[in-house]
Amino acid sequence: MAISSILGYPRIGADREWKKALEAFWSGKLDEPSFQSRLEEIRLGHLLKQREKGIDLIPVNDFSYYDHMLDTAAMFGIIPKRFRYEGGTVPLSVYYGVARGTKDAAASEMTKWFNTNYHYIVPELEGAVPVITENKPLAAYREAKEKLGIEGKPVIVGPLTFLKLSKGYAESETDAWLGRLLPLYVHILQELEQEGVKWVQLDEPILVTKLEDADNKRLKTAYETIAASVPGLNIMLQTYFESVENYQDIVSLPVQGIGLDFVHGLKGNIASLRAFGFPKDKILGAGIIDGRGIWKAPLRDKLGLLQELTNVVAPERLIVQTSCSLLHVPVTAKREAKLPPELQNALAFADEKLDELKLLTRALSSGVESIRDDLTHCDHDLEALELSDARNRQDVQHAVLELRSKKPQRKQPFEQRHIAQQKKWRLPILPTTTIGSFPQSAEVRKARQQWRKGEWSEERYEAFIREQIDIWIKLQEEIGLDVLVHGEFERTDMVEFFGEKLAGFAFTQFGWVQSYGSRCVKPPIIFGDVAFEQPMTVKETKYAQSQTKRPVKGMLTGPITIMNWSFVREDIPREHIAYQLAYALRQEVEELERAGIGMIQVDEPAVREGLPLKAEEQAEYLSWAVAAFRMTTCTVQETTQIHTHMCYCEFHDMIDSIEAMDADVISIETSRSHGELIHSFEENTYKLGIGLGVYDIHSPRVPKVEEMTSMIRRALRVLDPKLFWINPDCGLKTRGIEETVDSLRNMVEATRIARGKY
Ligand code: GLN
Ligand code: ZN
Repeated sequence: MAISSILGYPRIGADREWKKALEAFWSGKLDEPSFQSRLEEIRLGHLLKQREKGIDLIPVNDFSYYDHMLDTAAMFGIIPKRFRYEGGTVPLSVYYGVARGTKDAAASEMTKWFNTNYHYIVPELEGAVPVITENKPLAAYREAKEKLGIEGKPVIVGPLTFLKLSKGYAESETDAWLGRLLPLYVHILQELEQEGVKWVQLDEPILVTKLEDADNKRLKTAYETIAASVPGLNIMLQTYFESVENYQDIVSLPVQGIGLDFVHGLKGNIASLRAFGFPKDKILGAGIIDGRGIWKAPLRDKLGLLQELTNVVAPERLIVQTSCSLLHVPVTAKREAKLPPELQNALAFADEKLDELKLLTRALSSGVESIRDDLTHCDHDLEALELSDARNRQDVQHAVLELRSKKPQRKQPFEQRHIAQQKKWRLPILPTTTIGSFPQSAEVRKARQQWRKGEWSEERYEAFIREQIDIWIKLQEEIGLDVLVHGEFERTDMVEFFGEKLAGFAFTQFGWVQSYGSRCVKPPIIFGDVAFEQPMTVKETKYAQSQTKRPVKGMLTGPITIMNWSFVREDIPREHIAYQLAYALRQEVEELERAGIGMIQVDEPAVREGLPLKAEEQAEYLSWAVAAFRMTTCTVQETTQIHTHMCYCEFHDMIDSIEAMDADVISIETSRSHGELIHSFEENTYKLGIGLGVYDIHSPRVPKVEEMTSMIRRALRVLDPKLFWINPDCGLKTRGIEETVDSLRNMVEATRIARGKY
């Protein structure tokens, strides 16, 4: 009969005990043996939880001391030379050195795991001589078996995905690298086979992206070699996050199981299954419970889907599983008792998803009748949220419908606005500004805590914020910046701050997910119709403006960034959520304008994070993302200057969309793109105002004047000086006060020198 499985369980623990253990170890509060035993306790606890919930095939080796890509690299001894690793089992000091940097060696690069908010450590193959340092999957398997009697399923990043996500080798060396890695994979798997392991899950999410022919050949070579070497082992070739490209080739690989995502890749995978069937001799890993979403699954629909799958695959050949690892969701919704009940009851985090898998598997083996009550409860819970007032705001829905019927567009084209704005603002050539936030000192953070706890009154806290604004307005004037900001001292986070003030949002108490290493985030939940309720930023911005004659730029987070950094409802398309946010934020833009704020920045650092994996879906996403930005900003007067800001990612293939946002000025991070961005602007003559960050804000180092003048000179070789702005790469909230002031002084000096040439 069908069995249940998951692809991985969250590492962090319901109380973030994993994070706390890591950080205690790093700071020396926990010695290595205590740390090891603490992690073992956490790891075994997660296995026990899954057994308790009735999961049949429990993953092992999904647990990590930091990140699974780093684990795989460490298992093969792939450690960059600068860490002076000398072979053998990789010591924790080296392992964490690669992840976090040491005093002598910079950390390895970290990047987003496909289209999720999880970041992995990018393996550096250059100069490495791969060997097996430790069979970690085997150790994990033995531990589960010996300590708990659990027959685990070791999870390993597959060879093609590992290779494709690594760096430090030329395209032409790919085959040679596969040739080096493959024998190591084989060796690891042979030991697992000898141990009597039944199933191994080889993760190959790279198969949902478009691969070159050469990579498809490599895939074939890899899995044929593996199949020939471990005939007694069942390999589950696991894909996720989308439907697979090349379905027919993939299902004919010589493996015993194929894992497909029937949530995020539902359309494509079902179409392939219908068109081409599924090999009779294979097991289908049916990923039907969403491993990334936070909502209860509509069990009736899921049963329908299972039914459809059993038309093609016999039930005893199905493994009912999550669509991907549960790494991407919080641990349990049970404790979120402060949420409105209709919301709490509609949530399913990791542990609740285990229950869902169990129910669906039971229905398959014992008939739908066996879970009748559960189905009724599920219907009821989902319906209650559906019918809640929060999801049925007629005012918002009508307004958005109306908005969508018009093309969001400013009344005048940029060229005309530019002339009007020049006349009004009389800014010097190469105007200087910053991105919004100034240092959130310990004092600022403490004040906010005291206010949140109720130890400080509203008035006292507001007076404190005004003092901070005063200090920084004076500092900015003294430094000689042209366009000032209020400093964002009242904000912890650029999404939470707005979410708390808009209708339609909820905040969990414990809903943490791992973002990278020990860093966890607690995304807000957009569960209802989003609506503007009262001005959110006007008070502080207006106050700042009253303290200076220079223009103060208002600061908002844009609709796409708010959406991409939240968990969102799934009953309406993301596009519509974006428009609801845009409509709410537009009201804030209008409030700011009415309050006399004539420059307004709408930050969109996270636009790229929502980009679909499938190339054919990207244009559509970008087009509504651009529309949402324009809806937010298009109603202002000609002289009101709209700014935006972007950072964190590559933009070179997005410049057309950025231009289509039609912001009067964009400030954009350049240092992490190593000049690539400037190069892209060479080919695309950008026609609106633009400030390429002239210094990296991620380091406490104060950049020299000459570094910035040369940066400015380089940019002005391709960009029009009349449209060019001077600003740092990003907000300054993580920096110290002194280094910030010194850096900005140098920036203004560099500008003075550059202006001399015009
Ligand atoms: N205005 C924000 C700040 O300065 C922008 C942050 C960001 O780009 N991530 O902090
Ligand atoms: Zn930024």
